[in-house]
Amino acid sequence: METPVPDYLLEVLDTCGDSREGMVADYIPELATADPDLLAVALATMDGQIHAAGDAGHRFSIQSISKPFAYALALRDHGLDAVLASVGVEPSGDAFNEISLEPATGRPRNPMINVGALVTHSLVGDPRIGREERDQQVLDGLSAFAGRALDVDDRVFTSELETADRNLALGYLVRSYGVTTADPEEVVRGYTRQCAVRVDVRDLAVMAATLAHGGTNPLTGVAVVPPWVARQVLSVMATCGMYDAAGDWFSHVGIPAKSGVAGGLIGALPGQVGIGTFSPRLDEFGNSVRGVRVCERLSNDMGLHLMGTPATGAHVIRRHLRDGERQRLELQGAIRFSGAEAVLRTMAEIPPDVREVTLDLSRIASVDDVGRRMLLEGIRRLGLDGIAVELDRPDYLDPDS
Ligand code: GLN
Repeated sequence: METPVPDYLLEVLDTCGDSREGMVADYIPELATADPDLLAVALATMDGQIHAAGDAGHRFSIQSISKPFAYALALRDHGLDAVLASVGVEPSGDAFNEISLEPATGRPRNPMINVGALVTHSLVGDPRIGREERDQQVLDGLSAFAGRALDVDDRVFTSELETADRNLALGYLVRSYGVTTADPEEVVRGYTRQCAVRVDVRDLAVMAATLAHGGTNPLTGVAVVPPWVARQVLSVMATCGMYDAAGDWFSHVGIPAKSGVAGGLIGALPGQVGIGTFSPRLDEFGNSVRGVRVCERLSNDMGLHLMGTPATGAHVIRRHLRDGERQRLELQGAIRFSGAEAVLRTMAEIPPDVREVTLDLSRIASVDDVGRRMLLEGIRRLGLDGIAVELDRPDYLDPDS
Protein backbone atom coordinates (compact mmCIF):
# COMPACT_ATOMS: atom_id res chain seq x y z
CA MET A 1 0.00 0.00 0.00
CA GLU A 2 0.91 3.66 -0.16
CA THR A 3 0.63 5.84 2.91
CA PRO A 4 -2.45 8.09 2.63
CA VAL A 5 -0.69 11.09 4.19
CA PRO A 6 0.29 12.75 0.85
CA ASP A 7 -3.30 12.33 -0.43
CA TYR A 8 -4.56 13.89 2.76
CA LEU A 9 -2.18 16.86 2.30
CA LEU A 10 -3.45 17.33 -1.26
CA GLU A 11 -6.99 17.38 0.01
CA VAL A 12 -6.05 19.96 2.66
CA LEU A 13 -4.53 22.18 -0.04
CA ASP A 14 -7.62 21.70 -2.15
CA THR A 15 -10.00 22.86 0.55
CA CYS A 16 -7.80 25.71 1.81
CA GLY A 17 -6.58 26.79 -1.61
CA ASP A 18 -9.49 28.72 -3.06
CA SER A 19 -9.11 31.87 -0.94
CA ARG A 20 -7.86 35.02 -2.72
CA GLU A 21 -7.79 37.03 0.49
CA GLY A 22 -4.80 39.05 1.58
CA MET A 23 -2.00 40.89 -0.21
CA VAL A 24 1.49 39.94 -1.30
CA ALA A 25 4.07 42.00 0.66
CA ASP A 26 5.30 44.88 -1.48
CA TYR A 27 7.36 46.98 0.93
CA ILE A 28 10.28 44.84 -0.25
CA PRO A 29 9.96 45.43 -4.05
CA GLU A 30 11.30 42.02 -5.05
CA LEU A 31 8.67 40.23 -2.95
CA ALA A 32 5.90 41.99 -4.90
CA THR A 33 6.87 39.93 -7.95
CA ALA A 34 5.85 36.64 -6.27
CA ASP A 35 3.16 34.52 -7.90
CA PRO A 36 0.30 34.90 -5.38
CA ASP A 37 -1.31 31.59 -6.33
CA LEU A 38 1.55 29.34 -5.25
CA LEU A 39 0.58 27.01 -2.42
CA ALA A 40 2.56 24.23 -0.75
CA VAL A 41 2.76 22.25 2.46
CA ALA A 42 5.27 19.79 3.93
CA LEU A 43 5.43 17.74 7.11
CA ALA A 44 8.60 16.30 8.62
CA THR A 45 8.35 13.57 11.24
CA MET A 46 10.59 12.82 14.20
CA ASP A 47 12.11 9.86 12.34
CA GLY A 48 13.04 12.01 9.35
CA GLN A 49 10.22 11.27 6.91
CA ILE A 50 9.03 14.17 4.73
CA HIS A 51 5.59 14.39 3.11
CA ALA A 52 4.96 17.30 0.74
CA ALA A 53 2.20 18.50 -1.56
CA GLY A 54 1.49 21.41 -3.92
CA ASP A 55 4.25 23.73 -5.18
CA ALA A 56 6.77 22.11 -2.88
CA GLY A 57 9.70 22.66 -5.28
CA HIS A 58 9.26 26.44 -5.26
CA ARG A 59 11.93 28.36 -3.35
CA PHE A 60 11.35 31.65 -1.58
CA SER A 61 13.12 33.83 0.98
CA ILE A 62 12.82 32.69 4.56
CA GLN A 63 12.36 36.24 5.93
CA SER A 64 11.23 36.34 9.57
CA ILE A 65 11.19 32.55 9.87
CA SER A 66 14.96 32.93 10.19
CA LYS A 67 14.44 34.76 13.51
CA PRO A 68 13.80 31.75 15.80
CA PHE A 69 16.78 29.94 14.27
CA ALA A 70 19.16 32.89 14.67
CA TYR A 71 17.84 33.17 18.24
CA ALA A 72 18.70 29.49 18.74
CA LEU A 73 22.24 30.09 17.48
CA ALA A 74 22.68 33.13 19.76
CA LEU A 75 21.46 31.09 22.76
CA ARG A 76 23.81 28.25 21.86
CA ASP A 77 26.75 30.65 21.53
CA HIS A 78 26.17 32.83 24.62
CA GLY A 79 23.77 31.08 27.01
CA LEU A 80 20.32 32.11 28.20
CA ASP A 81 21.26 34.86 30.67
CA ALA A 82 23.47 36.78 28.27
CA VAL A 83 20.84 36.71 25.52
CA LEU A 84 18.03 37.63 27.94
CA ALA A 85 20.07 40.63 29.05
CA SER A 86 19.74 42.03 25.52
CA VAL A 87 16.37 40.71 24.24
CA GLY A 88 13.23 39.92 26.28
CA VAL A 89 10.61 37.20 25.87
CA GLU A 90 7.36 39.14 26.28
CA PRO A 91 4.79 39.30 23.47
CA SER A 92 4.72 42.87 22.18
CA GLY A 93 1.13 43.02 20.94
CA ASP A 94 2.57 45.19 18.16
CA ALA A 95 3.30 44.72 14.47
CA PHE A 96 6.56 43.01 13.48
CA ASN A 97 8.30 46.26 12.55
CA GLU A 98 7.17 48.31 15.56
CA ILE A 99 9.48 50.07 18.01
CA SER A 100 8.68 47.61 20.81
CA LEU A 101 11.31 48.40 23.42
CA GLU A 102 10.92 48.11 27.18
CA PRO A 103 10.59 51.69 28.41
CA ALA A 104 13.11 51.49 31.25
CA THR A 105 15.89 49.49 29.60
CA GLY A 106 15.39 49.89 25.85
CA ARG A 107 15.61 46.11 25.57
CA PRO A 108 13.60 44.79 22.59
CA ARG A 109 10.54 42.97 23.89
CA ASN A 110 11.23 39.72 22.05
CA PRO A 111 13.42 38.18 19.32
CA MET A 112 10.55 37.59 16.87
CA ILE A 113 9.94 41.26 16.06
CA ASN A 114 12.43 43.07 13.84
CA VAL A 115 14.07 45.18 16.52
CA GLY A 116 14.73 42.09 18.65
CA ALA A 117 15.88 40.07 15.66
CA LEU A 118 18.44 42.75 14.78
CA VAL A 119 20.03 42.42 18.22
CA THR A 120 19.77 38.62 18.07
CA HIS A 121 21.54 38.54 14.71
CA SER A 122 24.46 40.49 16.17
CA LEU A 123 24.69 37.90 18.96
CA VAL A 124 25.42 34.97 16.64
CA GLY A 125 29.04 33.92 17.07
CA ASP A 126 31.87 35.63 18.89
CA PRO A 127 31.37 39.44 19.04
CA ARG A 128 34.83 39.97 17.54
CA ILE A 129 34.26 38.07 14.29
CA GLY A 130 33.95 40.02 11.05
CA ARG A 131 30.90 40.39 8.82
CA GLU A 132 31.78 37.57 6.41
CA GLU A 133 32.30 35.17 9.25
CA ARG A 134 29.02 36.06 10.97
CA ASP A 135 27.17 35.76 7.65
CA GLN A 136 28.72 32.34 7.22
CA GLN A 137 27.89 31.20 10.75
CA VAL A 138 24.26 32.25 10.29
CA LEU A 139 24.04 30.50 6.92
CA ASP A 140 25.76 27.37 8.25
CA GLY A 141 23.47 27.34 11.28
CA LEU A 142 20.27 27.68 9.21
CA SER A 143 21.61 24.99 6.85
CA ALA A 144 22.23 22.62 9.76
CA PHE A 145 18.61 23.11 10.84
CA ALA A 146 17.45 22.39 7.27
CA GLY A 147 19.81 19.46 6.73
CA ARG A 148 21.21 20.82 3.45
CA ALA A 149 23.39 23.72 2.28
CA LEU A 150 21.09 26.73 1.84
CA ASP A 151 21.96 29.82 -0.21
CA VAL A 152 21.01 33.49 -0.34
CA ASP A 153 18.62 35.07 -2.85
CA ASP A 154 20.73 38.06 -3.91
CA ARG A 155 17.87 39.88 -5.61
CA VAL A 156 15.75 39.79 -2.48
CA PHE A 157 18.75 40.76 -0.35
CA THR A 158 19.62 43.79 -2.51
CA SER A 159 16.01 44.82 -2.89
CA GLU A 160 15.36 44.79 0.85
CA LEU A 161 18.65 46.47 1.72
CA GLU A 162 17.86 49.36 -0.65
CA THR A 163 14.58 49.96 1.18
CA ALA A 164 15.64 49.11 4.75
CA ASP A 165 15.17 52.58 6.25
CA ARG A 166 12.84 51.39 8.95
CA ASN A 167 15.10 48.57 10.14
CA LEU A 168 18.04 51.00 10.08
CA ALA A 169 16.07 53.37 12.27
CA LEU A 170 15.31 50.52 14.67
CA GLY A 171 18.99 49.54 14.68
CA TYR A 172 20.14 53.07 15.56
CA LEU A 173 17.44 53.43 18.20
CA VAL A 174 18.31 50.23 20.01
CA ARG A 175 22.00 51.16 20.00
CA SER A 176 21.16 54.58 21.46
CA TYR A 177 19.82 52.76 24.54
CA GLY A 178 23.13 50.93 24.93
CA VAL A 179 21.50 47.50 24.47
CA THR A 180 24.05 46.75 21.77
CA THR A 181 27.24 48.38 20.58
CA ALA A 182 27.11 46.78 17.13
CA ASP A 183 27.17 49.06 14.07
CA PRO A 184 23.51 49.42 12.93
CA GLU A 185 24.40 49.53 9.22
CA GLU A 186 26.34 46.32 9.62
CA VAL A 187 23.65 44.60 11.67
CA VAL A 188 20.88 45.53 9.21
CA ARG A 189 23.00 44.30 6.30
CA GLY A 190 23.66 40.94 8.01
CA TYR A 191 20.08 40.56 9.22
CA THR A 192 18.71 41.38 5.75
CA ARG A 193 20.98 38.72 4.28
CA GLN A 194 19.74 36.26 6.93
CA CYS A 195 16.15 37.03 5.84
CA ALA A 196 17.07 36.45 2.17
CA VAL A 197 18.14 32.83 2.70
CA ARG A 198 16.24 30.66 0.20
CA VAL A 199 14.16 27.70 1.31
CA ASP A 200 11.29 25.52 0.15
CA VAL A 201 8.54 24.01 2.29
CA ARG A 202 10.52 20.81 2.83
CA ASP A 203 13.39 22.84 4.28
CA LEU A 204 10.96 24.69 6.56
CA ALA A 205 9.36 21.44 7.73
CA VAL A 206 12.77 19.94 8.59
CA MET A 207 13.91 23.12 10.34
CA ALA A 208 10.72 23.09 12.42
CA ALA A 209 11.07 19.35 13.05
CA THR A 210 14.60 19.94 14.37
CA LEU A 211 13.20 22.29 17.01
CA ALA A 212 10.36 19.84 17.74
CA HIS A 213 12.96 17.07 18.08
CA GLY A 214 14.89 18.81 20.87
CA GLY A 215 17.40 20.52 18.57
CA THR A 216 18.61 17.40 16.74
CA ASN A 217 17.90 17.30 13.01
CA PRO A 218 15.78 14.15 12.46
CA LEU A 219 17.11 13.80 8.90
CA THR A 220 20.84 14.13 9.48
CA GLY A 221 21.05 13.20 13.16
CA VAL A 222 23.14 16.33 13.80
CA ALA A 223 22.57 17.95 17.23
CA VAL A 224 22.31 21.54 16.00
CA VAL A 225 21.41 23.04 19.39
CA PRO A 226 20.94 21.45 22.84
CA PRO A 227 17.43 20.56 24.07
CA TRP A 228 17.19 23.56 26.42
CA VAL A 229 17.73 25.90 23.47
CA ALA A 230 15.00 24.18 21.44
CA ARG A 231 12.63 24.47 24.40
CA GLN A 232 13.40 28.18 24.83
CA VAL A 233 12.90 28.89 21.13
CA LEU A 234 9.61 26.95 20.95
CA SER A 235 8.33 28.80 24.00
CA VAL A 236 9.05 32.18 22.44
CA MET A 237 7.50 31.03 19.14
CA ALA A 238 4.36 29.99 21.03
CA THR A 239 3.95 33.39 22.66
CA CYS A 240 5.42 35.77 20.06
CA GLY A 241 5.81 33.93 16.75
CA MET A 242 2.67 35.24 15.08
CA TYR A 243 3.18 38.85 16.24
CA ASP A 244 -0.01 40.56 17.38
CA ALA A 245 -2.06 37.57 16.20
CA ALA A 246 -0.15 35.25 18.56
CA GLY A 247 -2.98 34.78 21.08
CA ASP A 248 -5.58 34.11 18.42
CA TRP A 249 -3.22 31.69 16.69
CA PHE A 250 -2.28 29.77 19.80
CA SER A 251 -5.85 29.34 20.99
CA HIS A 252 -7.00 28.23 17.52
CA VAL A 253 -4.07 26.18 16.30
CA GLY A 254 -2.03 25.55 19.44
CA ILE A 255 1.32 24.97 17.72
CA PRO A 256 4.49 27.07 18.26
CA ALA A 257 4.90 28.88 14.96
CA LYS A 258 6.66 31.58 12.97
CA SER A 259 5.66 33.42 9.82
CA GLY A 260 7.64 35.32 7.19
CA VAL A 261 6.55 38.10 4.82
CA ALA A 262 7.47 36.12 1.70
CA GLY A 263 4.57 33.81 2.63
CA GLY A 264 6.31 31.00 4.51
CA LEU A 265 5.07 29.65 7.82
CA ILE A 266 6.41 27.00 10.18
CA GLY A 267 4.77 25.09 13.00
CA ALA A 268 6.78 22.90 15.39
CA LEU A 269 4.89 20.46 17.58
CA PRO A 270 7.23 19.10 20.27
CA GLY A 271 7.93 15.40 19.85
CA GLN A 272 5.60 15.01 16.88
CA VAL A 273 6.03 16.98 13.70
CA GLY A 274 7.47 19.98 11.87
CA ILE A 275 5.19 21.77 9.42
CA GLY A 276 6.16 24.15 6.60
CA THR A 277 3.67 26.00 4.39
CA PHE A 278 3.97 28.59 1.64
CA SER A 279 1.40 30.96 0.16
CA PRO A 280 2.39 34.59 -0.52
CA ARG A 281 -0.80 36.53 0.27
CA LEU A 282 -0.65 37.95 3.81
CA ASP A 283 -3.25 39.08 6.32
CA GLU A 284 -3.09 42.41 8.16
CA PHE A 285 -0.62 40.94 10.68
CA GLY A 286 1.83 39.85 7.98
CA ASN A 287 0.95 36.15 8.29
CA SER A 288 0.16 33.99 5.24
CA VAL A 289 -3.64 33.74 4.89
CA ARG A 290 -3.76 30.28 3.36
CA GLY A 291 -0.78 29.07 5.43
CA VAL A 292 -2.76 29.87 8.57
CA ARG A 293 -5.77 28.01 7.14
CA VAL A 294 -3.72 24.93 6.29
CA CYS A 295 -2.29 24.85 9.82
CA GLU A 296 -5.73 25.30 11.36
CA ARG A 297 -7.00 22.41 9.32
CA LEU A 298 -4.03 20.15 10.19
CA SER A 299 -4.33 20.99 13.87
CA ASN A 300 -8.06 20.23 13.93
CA ASP A 301 -7.94 17.08 11.83
CA MET A 302 -4.86 15.57 13.44
CA GLY A 303 -5.44 16.70 17.03
CA LEU A 304 -2.19 18.69 17.06
CA HIS A 305 -3.25 21.43 19.51
CA LEU A 306 -0.68 21.41 22.31
CA MET A 307 -3.28 22.19 24.95
CA GLY A 308 -5.50 19.40 23.63
CA THR A 309 -3.04 16.68 24.62
CA PRO A 310 -5.01 13.97 26.41
CA ALA A 311 -4.09 13.30 30.02
CA THR A 312 -2.30 9.97 30.26
CA GLY A 313 -1.94 9.68 34.04
CA ALA A 314 -4.96 7.45 34.58
CA HIS A 315 -3.87 4.88 32.05
CA VAL A 316 -0.37 3.96 33.17
CA ILE A 317 -1.59 1.24 35.54
CA ARG A 318 -2.51 -1.67 33.30
CA ARG A 319 -3.40 -4.10 36.09
CA HIS A 320 -3.04 -4.32 39.84
CA LEU A 321 -3.25 -7.95 40.98
CA ARG A 322 -3.82 -8.23 44.69
CA ASP A 323 -3.07 -11.78 45.72
CA GLY A 324 -2.59 -12.01 49.50
CA GLU A 325 1.00 -11.34 50.50
CA ARG A 326 2.15 -10.98 46.92
CA GLN A 327 0.96 -8.28 44.60
CA ARG A 328 1.67 -7.43 41.00
CA LEU A 329 1.55 -3.95 39.50
CA GLU A 330 1.72 -3.78 35.69
CA LEU A 331 2.52 -0.42 34.13
CA GLN A 332 2.10 0.75 30.54
CA GLY A 333 2.45 3.82 28.32
CA ALA A 334 4.61 6.87 28.92
CA ILE A 335 5.58 7.45 32.53
CA ARG A 336 5.94 11.14 33.28
CA PHE A 337 4.95 13.16 36.34
CA SER A 338 1.21 12.52 36.19
CA GLY A 339 1.57 8.78 35.49
CA ALA A 340 4.20 8.31 38.19
CA GLU A 341 2.00 10.19 40.64
CA ALA A 342 -0.78 7.66 39.99
CA VAL A 343 1.67 4.78 40.52
CA LEU A 344 2.88 6.27 43.82
CA ARG A 345 -0.72 6.61 44.99
CA THR A 346 -1.36 2.96 44.17
CA MET A 347 1.84 1.94 45.98
CA ALA A 348 0.73 3.96 49.02
CA GLU A 349 -2.46 1.88 49.19
CA ILE A 350 -0.59 -1.43 49.44
CA PRO A 351 -1.25 -2.73 52.97
CA PRO A 352 1.78 -3.29 55.26
CA ASP A 353 1.14 -7.05 55.56
CA VAL A 354 2.03 -7.52 51.89
CA ARG A 355 5.47 -9.15 51.63
CA GLU A 356 6.33 -8.75 47.98
CA VAL A 357 5.34 -6.57 45.04
CA THR A 358 6.30 -7.29 41.46
CA LEU A 359 6.50 -4.10 39.44
CA ASP A 360 6.15 -5.03 35.77
CA LEU A 361 7.71 -2.35 33.57
CA SER A 362 7.93 -4.50 30.44
CA ARG A 363 5.06 -2.70 28.69
CA ILE A 364 5.99 0.90 29.36
CA ALA A 365 6.70 2.97 26.27
CA SER A 366 9.00 5.47 27.93
CA VAL A 367 9.89 6.95 31.27
CA ASP A 368 11.31 10.43 31.63
CA ASP A 369 13.76 11.54 34.30
CA VAL A 370 11.04 12.76 36.66
CA GLY A 371 9.00 9.58 36.21
CA ARG A 372 12.09 7.46 36.88
CA ARG A 373 13.01 9.31 40.06
CA MET A 374 9.44 9.12 41.35
CA LEU A 375 9.22 5.35 40.72
CA LEU A 376 12.58 4.78 42.42
CA GLU A 377 11.41 6.77 45.43
CA GLY A 378 8.23 4.66 45.63
CA ILE A 379 10.31 1.48 45.49
CA ARG A 380 12.58 2.84 48.24
CA ARG A 381 9.63 3.68 50.48
CA LEU A 382 8.02 0.26 50.00
CA GLY A 383 11.38 -1.21 50.98
CA LEU A 384 11.41 0.87 54.17
CA ASP A 385 8.00 -0.61 54.98
CA GLY A 386 9.53 -4.07 54.66
CA ILE A 387 7.95 -4.82 51.28
CA ALA A 388 10.32 -6.39 48.78
CA VAL A 389 9.95 -5.04 45.23
CA GLU A 390 10.83 -7.27 42.36
CA LEU A 391 11.26 -5.53 38.98
CA ASP A 392 10.35 -6.97 35.64
CA ARG A 393 12.59 -5.09 33.14
CA PRO A 394 14.55 -3.11 35.75
CA ASP A 395 16.67 -1.72 32.90
CA TYR A 396 13.87 0.78 32.22
CA LEU A 397 14.83 2.52 35.44
CA ASP A 398 18.46 2.79 34.43
CA PRO A 399 19.14 6.51 33.83
CA ASP A 400 20.92 5.75 30.54
CA SER A 401 18.20 3.53 29.11
N1 GLN B 1 13.09 41.01 6.32
C1 GLN B 1 11.78 41.39 6.76
C2 GLN B 1 11.85 42.71 7.50
O1 GLN B 1 12.75 42.93 8.22
C3 GLN B 1 11.22 40.32 7.63
C4 GLN B 1 9.84 40.64 8.16
C5 GLN B 1 8.94 39.44 8.24
O2 GLN B 1 9.12 38.43 7.60
N2 GLN B 1 7.87 39.59 9.00
O3 GLN B 1 11.01 43.56 7.37
